[in-house]
Amino acid sequence: MTDDALLRLDGVSAGYRGLTILHDLGLRVAEGEIVALVGANGAGKTTTLRTISGVLRPTSGTVTYAGRSTAGLRTSELVAAGLVHVPEDRALFGPLTVAENLAMGAWRRRATAEALEEAYGLFPVLAERRRQTAETLSGGQQQMLAIARALMSGPRVLMLDEPSTGLAPKLTRAVLDAVRAIRDRGVAVLLVEQNAAQALAVADRAYVLESGTAVLEGGGAELAGDERVRRAYLGLSGLEPKIGRDEDGRL
Ligand code: ATP
Repeated sequence: MTDDALLRLDGVSAGYRGLTILHDLGLRVAEGEIVALVGANGAGKTTTLRTISGVLRPTSGTVTYAGRSTAGLRTSELVAAGLVHVPEDRALFGPLTVAENLAMGAWRRRATAEALEEAYGLFPVLAERRRQTAETLSGGQQQMLAIARALMSGPRVLMLDEPSTGLAPKLTRAVLDAVRAIRDRGVAVLLVEQNAAQALAVADRAYVLESGTAVLEGGGAELAGDERVRRAYLGLSGLEPKIGRDEDGRL
């Protein structure tokens, strides 16, 4: 895992204007796996994705993608290299149609018929609504469009920020099924979710983030069965809000 990681963070610290949010964060994403980042509100999940995608710069540590440090690379260069971030607000072009949004996602290459077919195959509702403007879609359909648009650029790593936010349970299941299907096509997915139960159910591996650092790592099913995770994040007893490290920094 350490050597074949497609994306890795080593000792990353980052934040906003002098406010450090991520502290010595390390994580790995290998080719074709779903890795979930779970943690409470404000734990630094979104900040992690922003740091990977070049919106924020690490103040220390390194982000390595496909064997190369991302330092100095612009977000557009990272997208061109296959590292693509779907932000929580989805950032769709509201007045443009579904088909036009998908075409925009393919900006670095032609929107091939195959790529479009794949996107529509993954989300058939988008095919039915291809001539409808994005702003008139439901929240779930907009989330599907945001993911489908990201796929049009041919990513190797897809980073999804809270794709289930605001969605009804049925649509959430549809989105998470699509995440599995995307992984099965060989794309690695880094999934940020506040709904830890859902994220762990779909993840091959996961990290629990607290105060900007990874306090636990393991298989999705393994973490879902971990007593500390169950208490702190799966709403079992709520007795222990934190997992934490001891004073020597051990988990
Ligand atoms: P949430 O689920 O609430 O988005 P999160 O784990 O994704 O939680 P982040 O959004 O990464 O957490 O936020 C981590 C911390 O960084 C929070 O304390 C937040 O207030 C702060 N923060 C986020 N964005 C900014 C910003 N643009 N400027 C300053 N502080 C920020």
